[in-house]
Amino acid sequence: MSKKGIFIPIEVSARHLHLSAAHYNKLFGEKAKMHLLRPVSQPGQFVTRETVAISTKKGSFSQVRIVGPCRPQTQFELTKTDARSLGIDPPLKRSGLVPQQGETLILKGPQGLVRLRGGAIIAQRHIHASTQDARKYGLKKNKIVRIEVSGERGGVFENVIVRVHPKFKWAFHLDTDEANAFGISGNTKGRLL
Ligand SMILES: [Zn+2]
Repeated sequence: MSKKGIFIPIEVSARHLHLSAAHYNKLFGEKAKMHLLRPVSQPGQFVTRETVAISTKKGSFSQVRIVGPCRPQTQFELTKTDARSLGIDPPLKRSGLVPQQGETLILKGPQGLVRLRGGAIIAQRHIHASTQDARKYGLKKNKIVRIEVSGERGGVFENVIVRVHPKFKWAFHLDTDEANAFGISGNTKGRLL
């Protein structure tokens, strides 16, 4: 089946943090659990009520959202604009490819501190597709696609990486810098080219 004409819901990610269980416990206490604030679109993932402060020598954010559940590695996803205000220069990466080098971030929770070397990325824009949809439309994992967005500030996003998982639902994930540049808000959809 042709993939032309598929419209994918756009979801805009603000800065957020994924935490390893060890780091979560250091920040929130040995037996602390995560508390759900709201689910996010991909099944099983959720924003927690808990937040952390993240700082560098040059700047800080006081209430950074955590997206649970815990992951094998701690990863802070932020925009280029956020990175400027922290005075850091994180690489553009696929989520999960966490750099072990880079500026030190201090994470602060109610019960403790974590000093994180590297760990920050600017997430590469990507689409989520279920295994079934990917097969149906000939989309392969890690393939690069292009997505068009209409509107007054519309245009074409190049270098969109495809992520595939049995439980994924269609979503095109951008950060707030990218979304603002293209005038994206509300229920905008992107067209797979
Ligand atoms: Zn995503």
